[in-house]
Parts: sequence; C-alpha cells; structure tokens
Amino acid sequence: MHHSIDAEDLLERFCRYVRLDTRSDPHSSTCPSTPGQWDLLRLLENELTAIGASEVRLTADGYVLATIPATSARAGVPRVAWFAHVDTAPELPGGAMPIVHRKYAGKPIVLPDDPGQQLTVDTTPHLREKIGQDIVTASGTTLLGADDKSGVAVVIGAVRHLLLHPEIPHGVIRVCFNPDEEVASGMTRLKLDELAADVGYTLDGEELGEIDCETFSADAAVLEIRGVSIHPGWAKGVMVNALRLAGSFLSALPAEVSPERTAGRDGFIHPVEVAGNADRCTVRMILRDFELAGLAAKRTTVEQVVAGLRIVEPRAVFTLTVSEQYRNMRYWMEEDMRPVEFAREAVRRAGLAPVSTAIRGGTDGSNLTARGLPCPNLFCGMHEVHSQREWVCLQDMAKSVETLLHLAELWHERA
Ligand SMILES: [Zn+2]
Repeated sequence: MHHSIDAEDLLERFCRYVRLDTRSDPHSSTCPSTPGQWDLLRLLENELTAIGASEVRLTADGYVLATIPATSARAGVPRVAWFAHVDTAPELPGGAMPIVHRKYAGKPIVLPDDPGQQLTVDTTPHLREKIGQDIVTASGTTLLGADDKSGVAVVIGAVRHLLLHPEIPHGVIRVCFNPDEEVASGMTRLKLDELAADVGYTLDGEELGEIDCETFSADAAVLEIRGVSIHPGWAKGVMVNALRLAGSFLSALPAEVSPERTAGRDGFIHPVEVAGNADRCTVRMILRDFELAGLAAKRTTVEQVVAGLRIVEPRAVFTLTVSEQYRNMRYWMEEDMRPVEFAREAVRRAGLAPVSTAIRGGTDGSNLTARGLPCPNLFCGMHEVHSQREWVCLQDMAKSVETLLHLAELWHERA
C-alpha cells in the first residue's frame, strides 16, 4: 500500500518545535535537566490529545506517553513503541528561527545571522542529493534542533496518519517523547512496565534509509590522584604534586587509541576532563569499543598505566573507578533480528535502500535494549547535527513517516 504523507503539516509542526529552546544541561540534577523541555513536552501532550491519541499522559519525570489503539483484530501482535527526544545538545543555543528553502536550487545557503556559516553542495554531505526538495535551516547563531525535533515531528506525523486512516491494519502503538538524551540520561527514569511495549524504535538517525542496530559499548573511568601537600618553600623531598602525576598519566596513555586517531570499528580511550590542584585531582575518561573484549582491553590499559605510576610514586594514592554506561545493542539484537529485519523491509516498502552502519556512540535505544526492549534507531531527516549548519529535508521526514507506517503494518502482518 502506498501512503501519501501530509508534508505541510509535518513542516508546520517541526517549525513550531524548533522555535522552543529545549537544550539540556549536563550539570543539572533535575529531570528534565532544564525547564525549557517542559514547554515542548506540554505542547506535545496537547497536540497528541488534539489529533485524537489515547491515554495521553505527561509523567512527573517529563515523559509524554500515548497510545494508538490497535486496528488489527489479530491476537498477539507485538506492541510497538516510537521514541523521540525533546532536548537539544547543550553546546549551542536552541530557540531557532527556522528558514524554509523551498525547491532548493543548489546554490550556497548563507545563514543570515552569521554569514560565516554556509551550506554548500561541495562541503555539506548529502545536500547535493536534495536539490529540488525542501530544506530547512536555522539562521546562523543557534542549532536548528533537528536533532531530534525532526524525530518528534515524524512520530506525530505517523500518529496523525494512522488515526486518520483506520483502514491501515496495525497492533497497539505506544508513543514516548523523552527528555535529556543529549546528556545521556534520556531513559533512566522511564518505567518500562508503564510503557508496556514489546519492541521500540528511536527516530534519531540522519541518513535517508538509515537503520542503526549496532552501537558502541561504553564505560566511564575516573582516576583520583591524591598527592602530598606542603608549603612549596620547604617541599624538597616531601611534596608529591597530583597535577604532575595527572600529566604523566595522560602522556602514558597510548595516543593511537584515541578518538582523534581511530575510525570504523576501532574503539578508544578518551580523557574528557581534568580537575583539581596540586594536592588532589581527578581525570575523567570514557572508554569505547564495539566488543566487550576490546572494552576490557581498554580498561586493562588504563589499569596498567596506573600500576606503573604507583611504582614510580608510591607516596601518592591512585583510585581508579570504572563504571558501565551502555552496551552495544547488537548483543541482544542477534537473538531476535525481527526488529531490524522488519525495519529493513519497511524502508524498502517506502522505496528506499536500507543503510546500516555501526554508530560510534550510543542512543536511547542502547539503554532500552539492554533493559529488555529491543530498540533500533531509524532515520528521520536530520543532517549536520550539533552545528549551526544543521538542516533537514522535508521529503526525508515524509519518507521516515512512511517507514513507520509500513513498520506498523509489518508487525501486524508477520504476527
Ligand atoms: Zn538525537
């Protein structure tokens, strides 16, 4: 069946969402981490109600949940959840002034509020493929917020389409808009029994036809170094400077196992922050690899460097703490590939070629998959995310909606 998507409605909603400043804050201890996210969450609660979704609810922790009741009379159709996050990356201002470039002609797009920010078909990946289509950018000083408001608009578009077309057979669809994906706590407070889904899809991918079912496995490592303090005037033979030890530690880490020197399927050790003084300091790192053995090897490398420093400077106290952040969703997906296979089939039915790459990062689905809800990530029209040059292609967003509709049908068909 061919679905004709209301692209103008998608565009109007998307532009409404990106005007709201919903950037998240890694230093906040509240959930959502910023008050701006509530504005979009409340707006979505209202829009879902207005388009006729059932069981619409905004939880105390900032999750909007809703249901599209089944149209299929079949028993045992798995319950499918669609996810998108409402926050935008903390590094750049939100609250975009969206600019719509209709029937993009292929000329450089100069963003008016900062003419240094330009999109050209030679320097912007995938832009050349969109000549003749409708593009949306920000105005130069902010993010567009397409990550992940294109996903939010796509989910609303798919909900609206299914509710307008009850002749499309599908099981129960659950919707979840969550906060704080960009600060890695997007799913921590989501109660899976409340969500009550069997399989999920995050709408948070870039390339047309993209299906991500493999992510990094990730640990965080924190090294605390305690030195010996004394007045520098009579420190000879007594002082142990924690900062100098931190410097030795960093220079002893293998330079080739770093994000700046690796790509593809290679993992890395990445120091992200050093804080402290001569008496004590803390080095924070992230460890990444696609395989658990590789991740363990990164941990061993760090441990060996610390062990070496303990020998060189026994008067200092080194405390290394490694904690799990997320795991490659492939480990679970391998046991039941249907969520991925159906997504590939849905992408093909939408007239596209499925594209899968191992993503050098995590998604909200990493956390959900490890907790028992298999959750691949799907494209939703965003490009060049986390930059002032972020843009979306409206026709890609419409294709993403179409993919979700085919997916809903597929889970009914194959039940
Ligand atoms: Zn995202």
